[in-house]
Amino acid sequence: MDCIFCSIIKGSIPSQKVYEDEAVYAFKDINPMAPVHVLIVPKKHIASINEVNADNSGVIAHIYEVAAKLAAELGVAESGYRVVSNCGADAGQTVFHLHFHLLGGKALRTEMC
Ligand code: AMP
Ligand code: ZN
Repeated sequence: MDCIFCSIIKGSIPSQKVYEDEAVYAFKDINPMAPVHVLIVPKKHIASINEVNADNSGVIAHIYEVAAKLAAELGVAESGYRVVSNCGADAGQTVFHLHFHLLGGKALRTEMC
C-alpha cells in the first residue's frame, strides 16, 4: 500500500520525530499552521475515523495520553492547544492514514466550521 505516513513510520521518508512508542508515532507537520503543530498517528494503518471500531479503538485513548504528554513537553499545556482529526473530503482530510493534529503556541481561531 502506498501511504506516506506508513513510509514515515517505517523511516523510508524522513520526518522530524518528536515521540515514538510501540503503538504511536508523532512528528512535526511539514506545513505548520501554528508554532506547535505535531501529527500523532497510530503505527497500524487506519485510514480515518470511519475505520475506528471495537478492535482498534484502544489506540485512540493512547493517542490522547500522548497528546497530553507532548503538550506539556512542548510548553502549551497551560496556554492551551487543540487536538483535531479531519475525516473525509468536507473536513479537508488529505492524508488517509488516521492522524491527530496537536496545535498550539498561539491563540487559535475559534470558528468550528
Ligand atoms: P489533513 O489535511 O488533516 O489530512 O492533514 C495532513 C497533514 O499532513 C497536513 O497538515 C500536511 O502538512 C501534513 N503532511 C503531509 N506530508 C507530510 C510530511 N511528509 N511530513 C510531515 N507532515 C506532512
Ligand atoms: Zn498508512
